[in-house]
Amino acid sequence: MDNCIFCMILEGKIPSRRVYEDDVCIATLDISPATPGHTLILPKRHYDDLLQLDKKTAGHLLMVAKKLGALQMEKLGAKGFNVVQNNKEAAGQTVKHLHIHVIPRYDDGKKFITWTPTQPTGEELDAVLKTLTE
Ligand code: 5GP
Ligand code: ZN
Repeated sequence: MDNCIFCMILEGKIPSRRVYEDDVCIATLDISPATPGHTLILPKRHYDDLLQLDKKTAGHLLMVAKKLGALQMEKLGAKGFNVVQNNKEAAGQTVKHLHIHVIPRYDDGKKFITWTPTQPTGEELDAVLKTLTE
């Protein structure tokens, strides 16, 4: 897709540091890593976000995330890893080509995605449930 930096990376128009490649995707080091080894999985086909993704590709990408997380633990000495995937600007997606972050974690145990817990009443929770399921 025109003007998509990840399509440009996939076409070799922008250099990248590839950790992994197969028929469906590549994995490249993030240019602004949260931790050393932070990797992005990019499907070779352009999907804007998760809403456009098919089941087979979704399953494949998650298995690649697992492989990369294991690699980060084995080779980089990570103690764990986060798998993060943002959809739409409201959720912090800055590049509109679906991608999965695999972020190795070393020691601190701090949450990456944090929020302030709220205390809704049971009625408020029920109202949300009703809206979602009716
Ligand atoms: P998002 O916020 O959309 O989930 O994440 C986009 C990610 O892409 C960010 O972590 C950002 O550092 C990374 N990124 C943006 N431009 C480039 C680039 O040109 N090369 C690489 N390797 N990563 C990029
Ligand atoms: Zn793209």
